[in-house]
Amino acid sequence: MIWETDDCAHEGWAAAEFSDSRVSVGSETGGAVVVRWGPEGEAEPAGLLDGRDAVGWCAVCECGWRGPLWARVATPAEHDTARRRVHAAPGLHGDAPDDVKDALHREWTDHLGPATF
Ligand SMILES: [Zn+2]
Repeated sequence: MIWETDDCAHEGWAAAEFSDSRVSVGSETGGAVVVRWGPEGEAEPAGLLDGRDAVGWCAVCECGWRGPLWARVATPAEHDTARRRVHAAPGLHGDAPDDVKDALHREWTDHLGPATF
């Protein structure tokens, strides 16, 4: 699902994050389509990864902005959404749990600032 501002200046989504600054931009039958996020916010294609290997999720925007990592944790006891720690088992496409998607959408909305609306 893509989030878009009315003027199309910002287009964001809930991305699965993998090791080595790789984030998902979509999915195919075989897994999550990922790009490597460079220091300047540029994205290079980085192939297809198994979403079950995601280290967590973050909100990403075409403008180059990237939200903080919501890190996957190993046990339910460590689950703490107030500290962006999520106990979840993503599937092959690496989709975030619905409540995490909602939180990522809020973070993305916040990065727009009040002037955008
Ligand atoms: Zn943006």
